[in-house]
Amino acid sequence: MKSLKENFQKAQVVIIGSGIIGKFNALELSELGFQVTIIDPAQQQNSSNAALGLLMGNMYQKRRGRSWDLRKQSIELWPQWITFLQKFNCELNIEKPLIQLTTDEEKFKKLEKFVYENNDQNLRILERDSIFIKNINKAFQETNIKGMISFKDGRINPFSLLQTLDQYLKHKKVNYLREEIIKIRKSNNQWISTTGNNENIKSDMVILCNSLKAIDLIGSLSHNIKLKPVLGQAIEIEINDEEVDLLSLPKQFNINGKNIIPISNNKLIIGSTDEYSTKPEENTFEKLTNFLDKKPNWLMKGKISKKWFGIRSRPDGEPSPIMKNLEDGLIICTGFYKNGILLAPACSKWVTNEVKNYLY
Ligand SMILES: Cc1cc2nc3c(=O)[nH]c(=O)nc-3n(C[C@H](O)[C@H](O)[C@H](O)COP(=O)(O)OP(=O)(O)OC[C@H]3O[C@@H](n4cnc5c(N)ncnc54)[C@H](O)[C@@H]3O)c2cc1C
Repeated sequence: MKSLKENFQKAQVVIIGSGIIGKFNALELSELGFQVTIIDPAQQQNSSNAALGLLMGNMYQKRRGRSWDLRKQSIELWPQWITFLQKFNCELNIEKPLIQLTTDEEKFKKLEKFVYENNDQNLRILERDSIFIKNINKAFQETNIKGMISFKDGRINPFSLLQTLDQYLKHKKVNYLREEIIKIRKSNNQWISTTGNNENIKSDMVILCNSLKAIDLIGSLSHNIKLKPVLGQAIEIEINDEEVDLLSLPKQFNINGKNIIPISNNKLIIGSTDEYSTKPEENTFEKLTNFLDKKPNWLMKGKISKKWFGIRSRPDGEPSPIMKNLEDGLIICTGFYKNGILLAPACSKWVTNEVKNYLY
């Protein structure tokens, strides 16, 4: 009798979309022995490449329900995947801790309540005089910043992560087609994915990981799924002030909803992820740097040295993300309008179980 792995080797799985979700699914499925093909015409221009890579797991305040379950699973899975992926890139790591700050007294009270109720040693309240934010207060010329630190959350460099996944997928000889899929249909128990060049790719299963565009492919199959585009923007700012050393700040932190990542002594990245439009606006600098009542001079005089954005998909009428078995052999993983990097391991675990259940 053939082993389960030998059987898997025969099963063909097509993954449409090669953002973090598509690539992570490909990683786990090919590790199990499935024959995986990833199809994407533009793997560099997706929202995964725009992400900042913050993994906000333990600091998530709603500690029950599906959203928390997915986070919890991912928090547990990430260290195992990091160890695995370090075989391909020994520098891949999660930089910890993660700090969430506010100048709003009400929000701070909520954070306090959350930390005290959870009684988790890895979460602590940061008062104004905490050493963790001493340099932030100094640099931002504020006296009112306080918040919470999570020693188990952190950041993975998304660029490095995506590159490492590519190395792994190449090593596993995963097929990669630079094509757009314009149609999928089922014929004689097989799925046929048709490319823009009219090429038909047959597979036992199709996994839709193509974010907003997944709807175009399932529309005719009449599944009632709706998605809205959500813009996320980030800028790299270069400052010219010898008084401020940005490397004296924590490696990653969030103030009043803006994510901040110092990358050198005079450059930092600021990102925001929840704007309900599809086109980046002209005044990005203003929008991303107005997180305090009064901007410090060095920030006011800073210059944008890079600017980028990504469009994610947000489910309309149901919670994020959408991970569903649409019909025999067709799975959808979309609607990761936030936290797609964080949730990728939990998603791939779910997909793998569904694929195994369907094929065997
Ligand atoms: C500025 C910004 C900051 C962010 N910061 C964080 C963060 O700190 N932490 C975090 O966890 N998340 C963050 N996110 C969110 C994260 O980027 C997303 O949740 C995640 O990238 C979603 O991944 P995805 O694979 O679903 O989609 P995508 O990365 O958008 O990939 C979808 C892919 O599908 C392909 N595709 C589309 N149509 C077709 C078709 N017909 N045929 C073939 N391929 C197709 C596209 O080319 C694309 O490559 C951030 C996002 C932005 C924009």
